Amino acid sequence: MKAYLDNAATTPMAKEVIESMTESMSIIFGNPSSLHSFGREAKSIIENARRTIGKYIHAEPKEIIFTSGGTEADNMAIICAVRDLSVKHIISSSIEHHAVEHSLKNVKENLSCEISHVNLDEKGNVDLNHLEELLANSKEKVLVSLMHANNEIGTLLPLKEVGQLCKKYGAYFHSDTVQTLSHYPFNLAELDIDFITCSAHKFHGPKGVGFLYKNKNISMTPLIEGGAQERGLRGGTENIAGIVGLTKAFELANAEMNDHVSKVQGLKTYMINELHSKIDGIDIIGEVEPLKSLYTVLNVLFPKFAKQGMLLFMLDLEGIACSGGSACTAGANSGSHVLRGIKTDVTRQNVRFSFSKYTTKKEIDFAVEKLVKIINS
Ligand code: PLP
Repeated sequence: MKAYLDNAATTPMAKEVIESMTESMSIIFGNPSSLHSFGREAKSIIENARRTIGKYIHAEPKEIIFTSGGTEADNMAIICAVRDLSVKHIISSSIEHHAVEHSLKNVKENLSCEISHVNLDEKGNVDLNHLEELLANSKEKVLVSLMHANNEIGTLLPLKEVGQLCKKYGAYFHSDTVQTLSHYPFNLAELDIDFITCSAHKFHGPKGVGFLYKNKNISMTPLIEGGAQERGLRGGTENIAGIVGLTKAFELANAEMNDHVSKVQGLKTYMINELHSKIDGIDIIGEVEPLKSLYTVLNVLFPKFAKQGMLLFMLDLEGIACSGGSACTAGANSGSHVLRGIKTDVTRQNVRFSFSKYTTKKEIDFAVEKLVKIINS
């Protein structure tokens, strides 16, 4: 038996998504920029996709810019905000995904943008009083960039409150929502938010496709220069099959959302209870309370044991896929800037288990059984 418990890194594609992509690839091949009927047919697929996605998140089609995934969308929001919107100060956190963190380094070094980090507690919650203090004291045009759910520890940001604070101080607000779009309902009409980002492979869609939502009142120039695709905001012939797959995955996830939330949250709670009852001295990293924690992510800190440095390797040998942190830091917990950012005891081994609609109780029982065996060996 094998257990795939690394769904925050990526998810298996849904059968329906593969079918929709295969069908579109075999029928639609025109270049969406061509004016003839083949091109117009391809173009209409993309515009329908934009409308469908916009409907689910209460956004206008023109506010959706298709990209090569979450990384590009995060880069675009941050770099374009500094370059085109006169942002000279970004307030962010020390536990953002590298797609954001490295873009911040870029605008600091190349565009002289000031970067401030908001205080966090030991569970990764943002100190909203400190955020307000930073906003109130800034003399520059500010962008706040804070992720909705942390991909390593699952702690959720109160988007509405942060959006209201940004509005109060006239700051732009970007949130990396790669781990939460299609996992929770989004009503952008009720949130004061300027940019959010999406990656299809986090919810059973294909890799290499996602989008940036950009509020319609913001005008920017492209990050990727080329043709006039995506209303002039992103050059390059569109990934039609990818966009079809993204849209199908989005539709499925939104149609089945309530069932998934309760099923997956149930599995996470079950795994927490099993681990507590079978292994002494474990701790959960980040928030555990369902309303404050992403239901697909569980990061566990194990008590010290002889072979702890080998844990991920031994789990892999047993057929269990999980990780030490994000896919980029997998295998080295001391390398996780997120765990360092919330002052976790990195002398103890942690493992991130992450779930999806395809995860079964059997997989969790299998993983817990092997964990007990390895820790006691
Ligand atoms: N942001 C977060 C929070 C992520 O978890 C990921 C993926 O690991 C990304 C951004 C990057 O997305 P993509 O893999 O589509 O580039």
